[in-house]
Amino acid sequence: MKRMQTVVIGGGSGGLAFAQRAAQYGREVVVIEGGRLGGTCVNVGCVPKKVMWYAAELAHALEDAASYGFEVTVGDHDWAKLKQGRDAYIERLNGIYAKNLASRGVTHVAGWARLTGPTVVEVGDESWHAEHVVLASGCEPGFPDLPGTELGITSDGFFELPERPRRVAVVGAGYVAVELAGVFRALGSKVDLFVRGDTPLRRFDPLLSSVLVECMRADGIVVRPHSALTGLKGEPGAITVGLQDGQNKGPYDAVVWAVGRVPRTAGLGLDTAGVMTDADGFVTTDLYQATNVSGVFALGDVTGRVALTPVAIAAGRRLADRLYGGQPGRCLDYENVPTVIFTHPPIGTIGMTEAEARAEHGDEQVHVYTTRFTPMYHALTPRRVPAAMKLVTVGADERIVGCHVIGDGADEMLQGFAVAIRMGATKRDFDDTVAIHPTSAEEMVTLK
Ligand SMILES: Cc1cc2nc3c(=O)[nH]c(=O)nc-3n(C[C@H](O)[C@H](O)[C@H](O)COP(=O)(O)OP(=O)(O)OC[C@H]3O[C@@H](n4cnc5c(N)ncnc54)[C@H](O)[C@@H]3O)c2cc1C
Repeated sequence: MKRMQTVVIGGGSGGLAFAQRAAQYGREVVVIEGGRLGGTCVNVGCVPKKVMWYAAELAHALEDAASYGFEVTVGDHDWAKLKQGRDAYIERLNGIYAKNLASRGVTHVAGWARLTGPTVVEVGDESWHAEHVVLASGCEPGFPDLPGTELGITSDGFFELPERPRRVAVVGAGYVAVELAGVFRALGSKVDLFVRGDTPLRRFDPLLSSVLVECMRADGIVVRPHSALTGLKGEPGAITVGLQDGQNKGPYDAVVWAVGRVPRTAGLGLDTAGVMTDADGFVTTDLYQATNVSGVFALGDVTGRVALTPVAIAAGRRLADRLYGGQPGRCLDYENVPTVIFTHPPIGTIGMTEAEARAEHGDEQVHVYTTRFTPMYHALTPRRVPAAMKLVTVGADERIVGCHVIGDGADEMLQGFAVAIRMGATKRDFDDTVAIHPTSAEEMVTLK
């Protein structure tokens, strides 16, 4: 058994960020990755998803082109060509990640790791005894426990599709479900979105979900709320979705489960090492990413906290700063994390929903500003895609505690507003900021 200062299990967003920062502080670090470097985000998450979103945005732009005077004849979309370009891009990224590790002196070991003791890690016949072990093994898509579940694919399978299925059922209500439904539809598939509750994106402010559902329906997505599934029947290429009310829908060429993600801890040896998990199997950590076992830390999706790449990266870098960078109190504040949902149009959101603010601060303390308009781009197009915004403020000084936007440009708009909100901006600060004209973002500083 070798001795090593730090061993990281998982070469995804969080594990790599931690390992590289730790190496910068002079630590000897091994990163063990069983799959491809870059983890979910690079291989089957943010990056390929955003490529598909760009393709879908282009499809919408092509629809609009005639309104701006272009005589465009649009042929078929070549899904296989898009996939080829996307896969090649990701392969380049995998190579860049490997080079980055090497240039920082981090040892990369390919293989599936498991703990054989509190700080002992094994891969095949190699094992290390480390001062610190960091668990960054992420999550994987879940399948529902229903008959015929294996007939469906998950987001991982979505990225493997060699061609575009013509008829698709997407099952789920979270951001992955609405994003994938939007891509399929824009590129030409007939899409049914099955949602168990009354609306997708239920955890977000209702302004966002209501405008999104309206836009999805206008694009031709059939949104089916209150759909409790009993299972899938048929065969790949002709799958039927059974519903609890006795109806059967389909047939579909593909059914995509987007019903949540489960922690990747099977075979990791958490029991052997005595690492505690919660009821859903996520590794329990304190504010400082420490588990209950001395010397063992966990970060990113496997901890069940906000499951986003920049969150995993920020947690990783802060942990390295604290352990090796002489910054004892450094840790990640999981409040006020901005996020974007890459729908059509996109959504940007940070902070409390209106209902959360009212529950926490009381109705009298909460003042809400909303607007809805048609962005100028759509003044000329038959597609009249709306934009809507909401600011949730609290107290006499109207401190902004929530900012929710849906509309073209929301994805790029939110980051700057997030800085202001993190710094404690009030409605007055927004009002006192001179608008940028003509943009959609200017509406945010002119809300009445
Ligand atoms: C479809 C989709 C779209 C997404 N879009 C966005 C987005 O737009 N923006 C955003 O911020 N986030 C997005 N996310 C979420 C984001 O990808 C994750 O939050 C992020 O990747 C989490 O990083 P992580 O380091 O915790 O885990 P991961 O990136 O999942 O990395 C974990 C790594 O550990 C490896 N591993 C697991 N077990 C072992 C083991 N025993 N031994 C060795 N290696 C192991 C895995 O192979 C994996 O590579 C998306 C996710 C999905 C699924």
